[in-house]
Amino acid sequence: MSYYRICPNCGKGAVARYATDDSLCGECSDNSSDNDKLSVEKLQEQLNSKVKALTEIRANIEEHNQIYDLSTSTALLLEGIDGIAFEALEMEEGNE
Ligand SMILES: [Zn+2]
Repeated sequence: MSYYRICPNCGKGAVARYATDDSLCGECSDNSSDNDKLSVEKLQEQLNSKVKALTEIRANIEEHNQIYDLSTSTALLLEGIDGIAFEALEMEEGNE
């Protein structure tokens, strides 16, 4: 036996298996899970590119330090940037 009900999201009538069923209709639940999946994938992509950029910055600084005989002020500046990149990376890793 099935029951006629109204989808709480789109308001369309739908047939449910239980009278107490208040889930979204098939169409809406399909869409919402697709959207969730897409936004999670998008966020993960953004996170990956940030981590990649920060990692590259740190590698560039290290390379620069090894190749060039830097003045104290330049070395301090690079060390500061490296520290900021390191902290940002730690935060990104903590979010996973
Ligand atoms: Zn619906």
